Amino acid sequence: MHIPGTSSPLLPYAPRPHCPPAGADPPKSPEHDLSQGSPSIPAPVFCVPNCDTPESDNPCRLTSLDPDETPAPTDAVPSSCDFSIPPAAENVAFRHSGWARMRDRIHLALQRSGASDSSISRFETCGSVAWVLTTDDEQPRYRIVCNGCRNRHCLPCQKERRDRVLSNLKSIEPHHPLRLMTLTLRATTAPLTERLDYLFSCWHTLRGLKWFRTSMIGGCYFLEVTRNVKIGSWHTHLHVIWEGSFISQQKLREQWLAITGDSFIVDVRFIRDTAGAISYLAKYLGKPAPASVADDDATLLDYVMGMRGRRLLGVFGDWRTYNLLKLPDSRGSWLVVAPLQSILRAAAAGDVSCSRILELLNGYAKAHTAYIHGSDP
Ligand SMILES: [Zn+2]
Repeated sequence: MHIPGTSSPLLPYAPRPHCPPAGADPPKSPEHDLSQGSPSIPAPVFCVPNCDTPESDNPCRLTSLDPDETPAPTDAVPSSCDFSIPPAAENVAFRHSGWARMRDRIHLALQRSGASDSSISRFETCGSVAWVLTTDDEQPRYRIVCNGCRNRHCLPCQKERRDRVLSNLKSIEPHHPLRLMTLTLRATTAPLTERLDYLFSCWHTLRGLKWFRTSMIGGCYFLEVTRNVKIGSWHTHLHVIWEGSFISQQKLREQWLAITGDSFIVDVRFIRDTAGAISYLAKYLGKPAPASVADDDATLLDYVMGMRGRRLLGVFGDWRTYNLLKLPDSRGSWLVVAPLQSILRAAAAGDVSCSRILELLNGYAKAHTAYIHGSDP
């Protein structure tokens, strides 16, 4: 196996029992030498970061960020990926490099909101145990699997979740036409928690109406929250995609006003391009806090508290049988390269193969950054 663009062979990962002490010269190991034939380039050491090395000397160790339990991967992984290896702070930095500043602010808001110690710990250590995988193709692809915090404010975790939902949604083959509906609540300066409670209460009432229920065989909804900074008001919307029969916009508008008491803005349209509509809707899934929200401490805290425990995606009717969070079955098609920290350290030491791997993985960070700015998908 070769890294495209380099002359170095990439050998399959084989675990070593111990990490080198911090500052020690990496031992020579032809088995793990990615720069064979290039004596001027230091040989990388791929090791399972074992804990026999004292913590103070062990560069693989986190300190206050240590999770309190063995982390679970967020994606399907080959059985040879060992997620009980100790975490590494540099893995966390790599995963979150595209949104470090906003992450710090979210972290602070989570603490102020009274989030549990375990959820904050998971947020802090998101991506700390990470493996690099590759394909056995002529032009190999690389990806990272890691422990994720699954926090709804964690951009990489939400992006991965969004991609999974998108893929599963696109695999649905509806038997009836699909339509798209948007329900909006009038903007007010009330706390977000209050507005979202009201939005979902109204949605529940609407779903209970016989004419509405019988028009929908099944479907799913996405929550969207925006902020008007000048007025200081929250705008809450439900985007609903459903399989079923026609619903009159006029009738829906009247019913929505009757239920909400003050909101009448609704939209209904027929979907001609299903894949396009699904991609459009999925962008609302786990959409990060707008910059206008994240820049103000009080607003961000209101946002974090308002979104806590909130269902951002729901299915109803016959679509309840679909598991939109199903993991892709990719166990057989990916090979383990090494723990991410081994690649990072080898690249930092000048190994060209590992640098090339990081280059190829660059899309990973770029995709997350694009997600923050709303240019993805
Ligand atoms: Zn996360």
